[in-house]
Amino acid sequence: MTIAIRQIRILDGHGRKIERGTVVIEGERIVAAGPDQTIRLPRGARRIDGRGLTILPGLIDCHVHFCLGAEADVVAAVEQESSAVTLLKAAELARRTVQAGFTTVRDVGFRDHAVFALKQAIESGLTPGPRILAAGLAICMPGGHARFIGREAQGIEAVRAAVQDQLTAGAEVIKVIASGGVLTPGTSPDEAQMTVEELRAAVEVAAAHGRHVAAHAHGASGMKNALRAGVHSIEHATLMDDEAAGLMTQRGVYMVPTLSALATTAACPTGCGIPDSARSKAKNMVRQHEKSFRAAVRRGVPIALGTDAGTPFNYHGDNAQELERMVTLGMTPMDAIMTCTSAAARLLRLSAEIGTIEAGKQADLLVVDGNPLRNIGLLLKQERIAGVMQRGRFVSGPLSQA
Ligand SMILES: [Zn+2]
Repeated sequence: MTIAIRQIRILDGHGRKIERGTVVIEGERIVAAGPDQTIRLPRGARRIDGRGLTILPGLIDCHVHFCLGAEADVVAAVEQESSAVTLLKAAELARRTVQAGFTTVRDVGFRDHAVFALKQAIESGLTPGPRILAAGLAICMPGGHARFIGREAQGIEAVRAAVQDQLTAGAEVIKVIASGGVLTPGTSPDEAQMTVEELRAAVEVAAAHGRHVAAHAHGASGMKNALRAGVHSIEHATLMDDEAAGLMTQRGVYMVPTLSALATTAACPTGCGIPDSARSKAKNMVRQHEKSFRAAVRRGVPIALGTDAGTPFNYHGDNAQELERMVTLGMTPMDAIMTCTSAAARLLRLSAEIGTIEAGKQADLLVVDGNPLRNIGLLLKQERIAGVMQRGRFVSGPLSQA
């Protein structure tokens, strides 16, 4: 099947815009993209009139948790539901995610290894959802943050074994917990967790299998431990200091800010059901987090979009809210879009396949009604999504019905 979308605004993911362009898709791949007058239309192609529409690479969220359903008390939810129910819930959340135009996600912590089953079910067409790169269980210290979706390990040998188990189960990225967190009671975001040696052991075992490591870290000391251990992304980076920012810039380590996670928890009024400990931690850090994000933009720290979708009131399917938050904090809409297209693909090491619109890339694409450079918020509106394409097939939106 060949599809030619004409007279459409193209945002190619590299930061370029073509006002009246054509994108040609053949089978699973993009075979041509450029200004209308430069592209010859193949005979027999299904032609789509793209006037008024914008086409972007399918969006990428580098930080979600499909085992969490944005419940007010996610720890209690995971403790109370069976793992089978969690998996069914996760399938539904994956469906919402792809319908929202996010065609790839990185799941950085699931309560068990069922996330690999979900990935397989999506790939085989059994259930709709995005391409998933999953970590399985997060690796944390005993009593540490995220233990409700983690594997507790202490000492180098135990950490190596824990990482090895995730890799054996199918992990394509390893998640380590290098500081306390917001949602786990009794842990403090600014304290470091796991030692540099343990973090380094995790990086080494992952590297031996060609895998990268994502580190959860709010506080600067946890961030710097993780950076010295050689991780590839810092998740949250809430209380980033100058030294940490310098190390990230120097080494090309990505910040995955997850502004939505702290903001949705902090915005929750008394009585909303989020435990008080989590609400007050988030409220205390949200301004500082915004400052860290602005500093990262100013200093040229690589940034890839992540929402932490699944945390309280941070809904799967609303992933584009993160774009709106980035733009509110001073990023241009084009730069924000790059954090969830080309930059995210680089972090996930999938640049050869996805993240930009150019000949040869897989046809994971998003078509929206209007111009997100003028109004970034339209990406959040389901009714503005004209079509979501995965591997050359429209799977959602009005264009899938034609
Ligand atoms: Zn998270």
